[in-house]
Amino acid sequence: MEMVQKLVRHVSFPLSLWRRGDLRQLGYMKEFERTQHLGVNDLRELQLRRLQSLLQHAQAFCPYYRSCWLRAGVAPSDVRSLDDLAALPPLEKQDIQEHGPSMIATSWPLRDLIPNRTGGSTGTPLSFFLSHDRKCSRAAATIRHNRWAGWDVGDKVAILWGAARDQPGSGLRSRLRNLLLERQLVLDTGHITEAKLKRFHEDLKGFRPRVILAYAQAIALLARYVKSHGLSAYQPHAIVTSAEVLDDDARRLVEDVFGCQVFNRYGSREVSVIASECEAHRGMHVMGEGLYVEIEKNGSPAKPGEMGSILVTDLLNLAMPLIRYRIGDVASWEGGPCRCGRGLPRLAKVAGRVTDFLVGTDGRLVSGAFLSLYLVGQRPALGQVQLVQEEAGQVLFRIRRGPRFRASEELKYLCDTTRQYLGADTVVDWEYVDELPAEPSGKFLFCRSRAAAEYVNGWGQAASV
Ligand SMILES: [Zn+2]
Repeated sequence: MEMVQKLVRHVSFPLSLWRRGDLRQLGYMKEFERTQHLGVNDLRELQLRRLQSLLQHAQAFCPYYRSCWLRAGVAPSDVRSLDDLAALPPLEKQDIQEHGPSMIATSWPLRDLIPNRTGGSTGTPLSFFLSHDRKCSRAAATIRHNRWAGWDVGDKVAILWGAARDQPGSGLRSRLRNLLLERQLVLDTGHITEAKLKRFHEDLKGFRPRVILAYAQAIALLARYVKSHGLSAYQPHAIVTSAEVLDDDARRLVEDVFGCQVFNRYGSREVSVIASECEAHRGMHVMGEGLYVEIEKNGSPAKPGEMGSILVTDLLNLAMPLIRYRIGDVASWEGGPCRCGRGLPRLAKVAGRVTDFLVGTDGRLVSGAFLSLYLVGQRPALGQVQLVQEEAGQVLFRIRRGPRFRASEELKYLCDTTRQYLGADTVVDWEYVDELPAEPSGKFLFCRSRAAAEYVNGWGQAASV
């Protein structure tokens, strides 16, 4: 281990926790290291214990849940097993927007409510609160999942990220803090140009991080740039991808170009890391000690391999409980035990934000990010495209034309390929734009589909009628 890393791990990191009053994070780190090896039944027992005490707490102190459950004719005491939780009504984003304040536990001290909010990339910004204790357990969970990728406290990390709020400051204090604690190089992907990709490539070689943490599509773009220019990429120990869907082609490209393994991860602002890959790379283990995840299809639990809507219950945030929260993503379960021996359940596939999908003429869902990247990958002259869908079977391309764009050829290709993926009757429209900026969060939206959200949300509603 290099000197600075040792210093960070054993001195400046614990010191910074102590200064912030976050020392209980160390306790959670120890606990999660141990509980990841619990067997399936022991883990489920732990989850049930935490779930039951969360439900009792919400019933006693959260007016929203009390009245919601009363209306639905259910009570926390009905939940005797984890499966019984399905009898309680799901929590929709709209419920949080409308009734958020009455979800906060009336018993909770105001000074222990840490505000947090989601961005607008899903179209529904939300405000919510964490307890200080939950902040510590979330940070500990992230470190545990980082370790699966061989990334520990004190290791250098390069972050291909777009959110300006996550970037370190440029003052002396921030620079020192970065040198002796965070050891980060932030490469802002909010607005990617070729010149910027070149700089990212050079900065990585100069900084030599152990790990790269990246938006999946941003690292895929960088890999494509490096490969197409015949450059040799800096090779880190591992790459952790997050925040966007990572399809198989993009993963292969990134692993090939950077000569290391990719560890995909799925998380959200509301509940932090939800699931991530272990060294076996067969699905993503859920952070089961803190979250109880359900996948619902037509109002019933989805079978392994079956795609459905994700519902998350945060078992450790008592300040403002989120119980059966429909996070807006779809996924499926991976069945059977993992080679690594951990008992934490696994998501086989997270198909990403519902709004990332296009709905075909016959109701099929196609990843907008995939289609957008595929089209441009095959025909670089297209430049950059963003897909907008208002209703199933229709799509509008917003095109920032490349220098060699030839309308008749590119548009014919666009129409033919789109119909091949979405159905022969798909209505294809297009408009030219000068710029396709990233979202304020830094994520680039390859696709925005109103149809997909309605379509997938309809699964749950159709069943509850
Ligand atoms: Zn595993």
